[in-house]
Amino acid sequence: ELQDVAQFVGLEQSRFYDPAWASGRPIHHNGSFLGYDMNKCIRCFRCVEVCRQVQGIDAISIVERGLGTCIEVLGFPERDACVGCGQCVMVCPTGALAERDDTEQVIDWLYDPDVVTVFQFAPAVRVGFAEELGIDNAEGQIITALRAMGADVVIDTNFAADLVIMEEGTEVVRHVLEGKRPTFTSCCPGWVNFVEKHHPEMIPHLSSTRSPQQCLGSLAKTFLAERMGVDPARMRVISIMPCTAKKDEMARPQFAHDGRRDVDVVLTIREFARLLRREGIDLARLEAGTFDNPHIGDYSGAGVIFGSTGGVMEAAVRSAYFFVNGRELPQTDVTALRGTETLRTAEVKLSDDLPPIRLAICHGLKAARDVVEGIASGRYDFDFVEVMACPGGCVTGGGHLKSKHAYRPAERKKRVTLFDIDAKRTIRQSHNNPQIKKLYEDFLGEPMSERAHHLLHTWYADRKRHAEMRIADIWREIRLNLPEPRNGEKV
Ligand code: SF4
Ligand code: SF4
Repeated sequence: ELQDVAQFVGLEQSRFYDPAWASGRPIHHNGSFLGYDMNKCIRCFRCVEVCRQVQGIDAISIVERGLGTCIEVLGFPERDACVGCGQCVMVCPTGALAERDDTEQVIDWLYDPDVVTVFQFAPAVRVGFAEELGIDNAEGQIITALRAMGADVVIDTNFAADLVIMEEGTEVVRHVLEGKRPTFTSCCPGWVNFVEKHHPEMIPHLSSTRSPQQCLGSLAKTFLAERMGVDPARMRVISIMPCTAKKDEMARPQFAHDGRRDVDVVLTIREFARLLRREGIDLARLEAGTFDNPHIGDYSGAGVIFGSTGGVMEAAVRSAYFFVNGRELPQTDVTALRGTETLRTAEVKLSDDLPPIRLAICHGLKAARDVVEGIASGRYDFDFVEVMACPGGCVTGGGHLKSKHAYRPAERKKRVTLFDIDAKRTIRQSHNNPQIKKLYEDFLGEPMSERAHHLLHTWYADRKRHAEMRIADIWREIRLNLPEPRNGEKV
């Protein structure tokens, strides 16, 4: 915003800028996804507020005094409380907080003839250009743009969302039958980071299914490489995501095998827009292309609604009903699960032989903390809980283009478009996606098979920062550092 104003009034340089003073300001660019440059900070503290008041995380602090005042992510980058949702980046008016820029790396691979580039883009990316370019669903234009840039393969993360439903839906049905509750969704890396860093006691309740991005990465370098006759060592999987936490997710040690990552680089929508500008491509002028990979890429309506709060739950209910009864849910639209309240609950009857299952959907980490604490204290009792770290889900993820005019209407429009795409798909259940069926027949066997487990599931680690000193130790240290008491003085 501030940059826009500066450009509008023709301000090219600040007369208050002092290079000598600025050289001492903190700049960090070594995190797996986030960097901050305090030379650009105007101390509005919006980032502190959104992290503390909206997300309830409080990872960003105000440090120093007077002219030296700035913000700091305490413990960054190794031992911080940050979950990577990127909501601070969205509200920063100057770009002082920003994602790590990986566009150079992608350009290098695009121009390297030995590299086979495989691009995937997430459900919410196609609706991410609505406000900027006026294209409600830019799926076809994004496909054309990627091909024009020289991408070798373009596939849809929606396909992997269908795959996640096959695995996670099967897992949830098993847990319900075994009486194990609750099961939490695991497709949002901001939420997974929250559990690992803030509430590790909930790790046993996280679904072991990987996120759609990571499922597609591991399938690309195994199944797709085999079908295309390409050496996976030459493949580079590049994701375009509405999310900063996905940059952190792809770097997790669980997702590298023999030194090779399943996903090689994640670009946010902002980085993708920069890449388009550098390559001289105007998305608004492009004809819409279509996916054409014969093995991976087709998606159901259930896959596309992953981008909105409630979408994962609705997709899972459509398939879980089929898994239990062997027939389709009579009403495909499960409207009881839709809405925008930060916590929504519903009861759904999967079969006449089972009691109704208790479902909860929450978005934003303040609501998530309430749910976790409520479950721990017995205030809440759910079978299956969907959590999205960003308020509203991925349609408001930290990797979107920054909304300059109408944040709320833009968010609503994106969500409505995703549900419209779902309503218009001929196939609306993940288990009916023909490419998914073929994948299980030819390669994976069945959901939760050994191969599926190896390629599509993961594990989590306790990364909570436990207090290293007791209060008594802190007092002892303070006493040791005090000056010697003078005669008769008590300390
Ligand atoms: S939002 Fe940006 S400009 Fe404002 S205090 Fe945070 S880093 Fe500085
Ligand atoms: S809600 Fe979506 S955009 Fe936000 S952290 Fe989770 S996966 Fe990323």
